[in-house]
This record gives sequence, structure tokens and C-alpha cells, in this order.
Amino acid sequence: MKIGIISDIHANLEALTAVLAALARLKIDQIICLGDLVGYGPNPNECIDLIRQECSVVLAGNHDYAIIGQEDLERFNSHAKQALEWTRSVISAQNLDFLRSLEVVFSHDNYLYVHASPARPTDWDYVFDDWEAQYQFNFFTEHACFLGHSHVPMIISKMQDHISFIEGVRVELAENCQYLINVGSVGQPRDLKPESCFGVLDVSRQVVELHRVGYPIEVTQAKMAAAKLPEHLASRLKIGY
Ligand code: ZN
Repeated sequence: MKIGIISDIHANLEALTAVLAALARLKIDQIICLGDLVGYGPNPNECIDLIRQECSVVLAGNHDYAIIGQEDLERFNSHAKQALEWTRSVISAQNLDFLRSLEVVFSHDNYLYVHASPARPTDWDYVFDDWEAQYQFNFFTEHACFLGHSHVPMIISKMQDHISFIEGVRVELAENCQYLINVGSVGQPRDLKPESCFGVLDVSRQVVELHRVGYPIEVTQAKMAAAKLPEHLASRLKIGY
């Protein structure tokens, strides 16, 4: 059983299409989406349609919450806010209803899935450092918690009270450890690598791998320019920040 885990698509259809093709090549059994389907990018409706079709579980992120009025637009920076206002103007009624139907936490088979953090899923905390990781481990009992939100892929383990940030893109899940695994972002990576990022959990082998795949960034950027989305949001795609 192999589970593909994707997050932070942000209405980037070219990136999502490339990731879905890569997941198909990896012979994935099911796909779980950790949220932020929309925001920043030019194809919110097309991305939601594809995700509804391809994913067995879909969670909401803070940008999705903003679109359905559950999150204050003032909590976003001006570029993000501008893109969210544009998204609200183009999203279909049906897709709005779909976003309204999404949960923020999913637990299954001793794995936990959230958009931002297990402690306070709708406070949208970021897990970057030792202290925050240590704190977040207090809020779940599952073997591993998969998350997104920061757009920075990361594998963190906890053995007894010891926290380690694991180097590399692959981890064999040890029975005596717990894990926080950030699967990175499909549509707007921020670890200085522009390639889309996603995770694969091989349940039978107890292995998690983070994968990268390139996509035609210029196509997305041209669509963003045509939709008059902030130029900064388009240019950052090229540098992965
Ligand atoms: Zn995001």
C-alpha cells in the first residue's frame, strides 16, 4: 500500500499535473491532500476539480479557509490577500461548497494528517525549529504526523525526548520513534528549489520518501500575468521562494 501525500497546491495547475503524473508512475494506491488548494496561483477551479477527482482525502488549509470566510484576509500579506480576493472573484459556487465541506484533521491507521500543526490545526502554526517540534509532538499519539503549510519539506524524528532533523529525503520509520514529516509544496516550493515537492508513504515497507518533479513554470507565470496576479508571486516560483 503506497500513499501519495500532497500539500499547498495553490492553484498551480501545471505543478499539480506534473505531480499527479509522477504519482501515477510510482503506482500509488491513494492520494491524500493536506490543503491550500487555492491562493497565489491562476487555476483554482481546475485544481479543485482535479483534486476532487484524484484524492481520497482532502483537508483544508488557511488559504482555503480564507476563501470560505473562516479566516480573516487581514492575517495575510498584501500579495497573498490580493490573490485571495481574485480567487474569490473567480471560484465556482460548486467549488466553494466543496471547500466548505473540508475537515482540517484526518487520522487513519496510526498516521495523522493536518495542514499546519497537530496542536492547534486552525491557528496555522509553523513547525520549523526544535522547540516548536518538541511542543507539537505532545499533541499526537500516531506514529507519524504529515503536514504542509511552511512549503519547506522536512523530516523530524523524536526518540524518547530527543528531537532530530533528518538529513535527506528518505526515512525508514523506526518502531521506537515518532515523526513529523512536512511534504513540502506542490505549487509554490520555498526551499530554494523550484521543483514541486510531494511525499510517498509506503505502508508495508514503513518508508517515507520526499520526491521532486519539474513543471513548465513559464506557463504558470504567463497565466498569472494574464490574470493580473502580483508579479512577485510569479517571479518567486522560478527561485523556489
Ligand atoms: Zn500554503
